[in-house]
Amino acid sequence: MKIEESVPLARHTTIGTGGPARYFARPESLDELEEALGWAAERGLEVAVVGLGSNLLPADAGFEGLVLRLAGDLAGVDTEGALLVVGGGAANAVALHRARAAGLGGFEFACAIPGTSGGGVWMNAGAYGSEWSQVLVRALVVTAEGSGWLTPAELGLSYRHSELRHGQVVARAEFRLTPAPVGEIKARVSELNAQRKAAQPTNKRTFGSVFKNPVHELTAGRMLEACGLRGFCVGGAQISPKHANFIENAGGATSADAVALMAEARRRAREQYGVELRHEVELLGPIELPA
Ligand SMILES: Cc1cc2nc3c(=O)[nH]c(=O)nc-3n(C[C@H](O)[C@H](O)[C@H](O)COP(=O)(O)OP(=O)(O)OC[C@H]3O[C@@H](n4cnc5c(N)ncnc54)[C@H](O)[C@@H]3O)c2cc1C
Repeated sequence: MKIEESVPLARHTTIGTGGPARYFARPESLDELEEALGWAAERGLEVAVVGLGSNLLPADAGFEGLVLRLAGDLAGVDTEGALLVVGGGAANAVALHRARAAGLGGFEFACAIPGTSGGGVWMNAGAYGSEWSQVLVRALVVTAEGSGWLTPAELGLSYRHSELRHGQVVARAEFRLTPAPVGEIKARVSELNAQRKAAQPTNKRTFGSVFKNPVHELTAGRMLEACGLRGFCVGGAQISPKHANFIENAGGATSADAVALMAEARRRAREQYGVELRHEVELLGPIELPA
């Protein structure tokens, strides 16, 4: 397996920002994954996985460790009876396509989530009232020390959260689905896609929801809209004019621009509503939100 150096993470994120990963590898099997983790451990390097980068904001200074992108067998998709069995690097769109072809329903909500199964486990991805924890049976988590299958409870899945930490790699996942007519699955996906298109910026470079919804009558998006933030810009980053809980790369944005927008959004939500917004997007490397 080739280990590349200085690979720009901007190429691996949907927002299109972020500096270089010092080392980058694409393991295609469990053996290669273990080899990569061992290689990093010997050198004392931190390891992080990038899925489709759809919930990731890497520092402009980059990441001083090894970034892994799961490929080959680790991005494969199959069905076994009512189980959807996927590699951690499998795109949700591919997994959904396979489930539909096998007449298995219950994964339609993932049509709205442009990531991988491993990224979904990391943050218990969800949409339209469904989430990973409801369909996930178990995930194979691999570290430099060994591997084991963990259930949703053992992964600590809750609202857009798991207890996983960098260095723990979701290599496989199994989802229990329900037999359903293909036509019904297709119709549900079309309906969800139409809802999504009407409410959110779907043809822009974003990383999905910026903040988790607070415990409040207003969602994060409605709150930031009421704070007058729709269309607000810092550098090349802009709060989406369509949905205030999205940040768009309007051209030449840096991760620092996005962080500055997030800090301003948090400040206004705190001042106007007394609410401390918590970010949903994952930050990687030397990058943090000011308190
Ligand atoms: C337009 C748009 C709409 C979105 N809508 C939704 C939505 O409705 N609901 C929702 O929940 N999310 C949504 N998202 C966010 C995003 O798609 C999800 O969080 C998705 O699960 C991230 O998966 P990913 O593979 O892209 O992970 P990445 O963004 O690449 O990584 C996110 C985190 O997961 C970790 N990770 C990724 N893969 C693995 C692995 N195999 N093992 C261990 N850790 C891993 C990374 O290290 C990082 O910490 C949206 C994003 C966009 C751009």
